[in-house]
Amino acid sequence: MSIAKPPEIELEKPSQGRPLGVYIHFPWCLSKCPYCDFFSVATHSTIPHQVYADAVISEFDRRFDAIKPGSLKSLYIGGGTPSLWDIDVLGRVIKHILGAFGVASSAIEVTLECNPSSFDPVKCFKWQELGVNRLSLGLQSLNDSDLQYLGRAHNAREGLATLDAALASGMPRVCADLIFGLPGRSPDDAVAEIKRLPLDALSHMSVYALTIEQNTPFGALARAGRLALAPDDSVADSFVALHEELTAAKFEHYEISNYARRGKRSVHNMGYWQGNDYLGLGVAAFGTVNVNTSQSFARQEGERIRYRNTTRIQQYLDLCSGEEGELVWQMHPAGLLTEFELIDQGIGFTERLMLGLRTSDGIDLNELSQEFDINPWLTKRRHSIERLVRQGRLNQDGARLRIPFKTWFLADGTISELIWTQSKQAAS
Ligand code: SF4
Repeated sequence: MSIAKPPEIELEKPSQGRPLGVYIHFPWCLSKCPYCDFFSVATHSTIPHQVYADAVISEFDRRFDAIKPGSLKSLYIGGGTPSLWDIDVLGRVIKHILGAFGVASSAIEVTLECNPSSFDPVKCFKWQELGVNRLSLGLQSLNDSDLQYLGRAHNAREGLATLDAALASGMPRVCADLIFGLPGRSPDDAVAEIKRLPLDALSHMSVYALTIEQNTPFGALARAGRLALAPDDSVADSFVALHEELTAAKFEHYEISNYARRGKRSVHNMGYWQGNDYLGLGVAAFGTVNVNTSQSFARQEGERIRYRNTTRIQQYLDLCSGEEGELVWQMHPAGLLTEFELIDQGIGFTERLMLGLRTSDGIDLNELSQEFDINPWLTKRRHSIERLVRQGRLNQDGARLRIPFKTWFLADGTISELIWTQSKQAAS
């Protein structure tokens, strides 16, 4: 395999330009959870640890040459179950990427997703030596029957023991992920579950309502009417009860599904919601980046594109081991990419509005107007804003719009009333 030589490491060199996150997708899990629609495969054989790392590094080198690299703010290693990746191999990947940007791990957020079933305390110390400073722990539930319903490989005792060990290891930030809205569970149950956590020690919590995705075993069972589900109003009540419990415990509810201690929001995820670029690497990874004009499709400097890599693991490995210099953007549609689109001003504006309204900061329409050179105050939108404010589904403070938390659970419907395809030329 032909792998590009790693760039020289020059730590602490400040990088310039737009903020950027790097995301690496690790596509293997020990087993497949029936609700999950992230791309991952249950591994029945040996994971090709080294070969996958070589491929990710090779992809990184080629994409890095083709983008306007920006200022690295975060590195997020997700999946799948990246805590299964051999530590030394993972370390090689982290070192290579940080070296290319010339930043130290201590200067940015480096997150690793982890499952209780692939955690051990020794690994946790080693992850920190590699530069990981934030562990996102997929607990999902603290109830054995719920964990069985979700098809998880760990039980409640193992989940809590993992959390304790991660905290005791000195990992700078430990974040717990939970799922609520399971059948037979009341808002009181959801709160009781939260209270079993060592909340004071946690810097961040992601608390998701169970959603049934079509292309999953749960989706098939639901279509066949064979999956027990919680009523919508009970799920909404649990959302409010969890908000009250966690904000009383001094967490900031800063995005629909995310809570953080002051100053400890997820830098990486905030980057998505604020419209920053992210360089996605690995099988099935998405990315949104500004490319440089060496790319033949680029009409102007800084053209913004979104892509998704192939979901075929062997194809990904083969393509990334191909000739150096081959332009990864141009492998679409039969090659590395399964999706590719240019992000014009209209798409960019709509996405910022959608994502910004999912956060407690909301969006400032005048700021977006300046950034995208678009008139946001169309008559249709002004009428929608007035109606939503009257209905208590939106707060307006000058040009800033926010969705009040009590109707946050209905955010998708609210947002859909504010967006439609809008070109730069759209008139009021
Ligand atoms: S462990 Fe996580 S990524 Fe893997 S199947 Fe389960 S939910 Fe999906």
